[in-house]
This record gives sequence, C-alpha cells and structure tokens, in this order.
Amino acid sequence: MKIIMLGAPGAGKGTQAKKIAEKYQIPHISTGDIFRANIKNGTELGKKAKTYMDQGLLVPDELVCDLVVDRVQQEDCRNGYILDGFPRTIPQAESLDRALAALGESVDYAVNVEVPDENIVNRMGGRRACVGCGATYHLVYAPTKKEGICDTCGAELILRDDDRPETVQKRLGVYHEQTQPLIDYYSKKGILKDVDGTMDMGAVFQAITEILGA
Ligand code: ADP
Ligand code: ADP
Ligand code: ZN
Repeated sequence: MKIIMLGAPGAGKGTQAKKIAEKYQIPHISTGDIFRANIKNGTELGKKAKTYMDQGLLVPDELVCDLVVDRVQQEDCRNGYILDGFPRTIPQAESLDRALAALGESVDYAVNVEVPDENIVNRMGGRRACVGCGATYHLVYAPTKKEGICDTCGAELILRDDDRPETVQKRLGVYHEQTQPLIDYYSKKGILKDVDGTMDMGAVFQAITEILGA
C-alpha cells in the first residue's frame, strides 16, 4: 500500500503517519525528518536545506525529488510506504508519478488531513520535538509523562525554530500557494480521501483506517 499524507503544516500528518506505519508494517518516510537528520549530522544537504527551512520556505524540488525516488526503491518499501511531507508541490508529485510509472506502480491513497488555519497556530505553538529521537508531542494534546523530557528516549524537548509564530504564518502561506493545489491533482486521479483533522488523534486514526481498510 502506497500512501501520501496531505495537509497543512501541523495538521497531524506525522502523528497519523507513524500510527499507520506501525499498523500496516510499512516504512514512514518524512522528508522533514530526513532534512532535520541531515542538519544534525552537518551534511551538505542539511546545510542547503536549513537556509530554506529556517525561513519557512520549501526546499527546492531538485534537492527533494531524487532523494525520495531513491528511498522508495529500497528493499523495505516493497510492500508499500507512507510519505509524510512529500510531495509538497505539483512538480514533486509529477516526479514521483513518473518514477513510479516507470516501475509499473502508482500511489494508492492521498489522505488529506483537513484542519483550518486558526487551529494550526495552536497546534504548532504547542508542538514539542525531541532532540534525541525526533518524536513529536504537544503541551496540551499529547503531553509527555515528565515535562520537557521525551517519553521514548529521555532526551530534551524543544520548540522547533520553524514553529515560532512568525514562521508558522509564512509556512501556512507557502502551503496554500504551493501545496494545496495537490488536493485537486489527486482528486482528479480519483485517489483523494479527505479526513476531518480537527477530531482527537484517535478519531482521526480511526477515520483513516476505515479508508485504508483492514
Ligand atoms: P510539518 O510536519 O510541520 O509540515 P515538515 O517536518 O514536514 O513540517 O517540514 C519542515 C520543513 O522542511 C518545511 O517547512 C520545508 O522547509 C522542508 N521540507 C520538508 N519536506 C519538503 C518537501 N517535500 N519539499 C520541500 N521542502 C520540504
Ligand atoms: P504535521 O506532521 O502535519 O506537521 P504533527 O503530527 O506534528 O503535524 O502535529 C502537529 C502538533 O499537533 C503536534 O504537537 C501534535 O502532537 C498535535 N496533534 C496532532 N494531531 C492532533 C489532533 N488530532 N488533535 C490535537 N493535536 C494534535
Ligand atoms: Zn526522544
């Protein structure tokens, strides 16, 4: 099963993608996580990506597409995968479709997690990320057992630089301009599935599993 997660920054794509990956035993591929790992390790890709990410802008397509196309051809992806944060532009979607078509494959579902902008600001302001393992929490909606400490690995939690209110507004603008057109793109392909992302996490997950079946 090949799944794409669509939605605004902070809509809950990552939260749901992790749960889906676990349930269906497929890899969760987050381009944001890949970039953040590269930044942490000081790679050339990380250095380039950071200049865009810090400004709330998208990393250029040419730095993203090959990376994802390579990743989905790895052995662990043979039974499918869930893409979180990719594609984010029409050229990225076209590049993925071309690469898959060359393998005789295609995306099965584009799950669109719908959350209005006014809820997003709340979601992002309260989001906390683990510096150790990258796990995501929320001060109110997904708190850790011990404040400021990751439940999974014990490392410290931070507010991501790009989750500060000024950058969030910028990212929302970028989303509406560059990513939202993908809703129409996948709708025309007949694989778009809308989900109400304002429900609590468990209810959103249930709605998604009903779409995916089993
Ligand atoms: P969120 O989960 O809040 O939407 P991500 O972790 O997916 O954020 O992405 C963080 C940042 O990484 C984005 O704002 C963008 O700069 C960059 N990024 C991630 N995925 C892509 C992509 N597919 N294309 C371009 N930039 C990307
Ligand atoms: P995305 O990957 O789309 O950027 P995340 O999964 O990181 O979004 O979620 C953004 C923030 O909102 C996180 O702090 C997360 O814990 C929280 N969150 C996710 N889903 C929900 C939900 N259904 N209700 C309330 N908060 C949520
Ligand atoms: Zn952790």
